[in-house]
Amino acid sequence: MGLPEVLARIERAARRAGRDPAGVRLVAVTKGHSPEAIREKVLAYGDFPLGESRVQEALPKIEALPEATFHFIGPLQRNKAKFMHRFLLLHSLESLRVAEALERRLPRPLDVLVEVNVGREPQKHGVLPEALPELLERLKELSRVRVLGLMTVAPRVRDPDRLRAVFAELSRLADRYNLPERSMGMSEDFELAIEEGSTLVRVGRAIFDEL
Ligand SMILES: *Cc1c(COP(=O)(O)O)cnc(C)c1O
Repeated sequence: MGLPEVLARIERAARRAGRDPAGVRLVAVTKGHSPEAIREKVLAYGDFPLGESRVQEALPKIEALPEATFHFIGPLQRNKAKFMHRFLLLHSLESLRVAEALERRLPRPLDVLVEVNVGREPQKHGVLPEALPELLERLKELSRVRVLGLMTVAPRVRDPDRLRAVFAELSRLADRYNLPERSMGMSEDFELAIEEGSTLVRVGRAIFDEL
């Protein structure tokens, strides 16, 4: 598909939903790709934030691409909290313990999203919806962790109704807690996610022509 086609589809999905396309931002997921490929397939079209899911893989890319900004989208362990100041946004905060490590280790406040396991899959990351209020309350006590919104990874199913229900639920939760950002939608479902209120789509394979 490539990045220009992804952008065109984002815009069409937003208009279909009666939304301003400027309210949906593309995070180009670059895991598994070299700095050269990232320049050619992403940065040639604009300075889109790059999404990386492993700290070890991301750090050398951050060095190699000083012109780019990075988001962290993968599971974060406590011992990697100290690297998060290299990222503009953490999409995948899922525990108070990691948040407390961020509070101790970061030189300045970090914008974060809380990952929610909306689909209630046992093997998935993220907090269950019922654990969210308590976690959000506790996070308010931390000065270096600024919660801007919620994130979810939808179940790997094709059924559009099931996906739509998951995305709608994340939007409902974000509304309930007055959080503006909703990070949801990947290569195979970003248009549905936009129709249900996504503000950040995380797209990898569609950009790198792997679909
Ligand atoms: C890899 C990944 C994506 C992108 O998935 P694609 O199917 O390549 O678009 C989005 N979010 C997370 C958390 C990922 O790990």
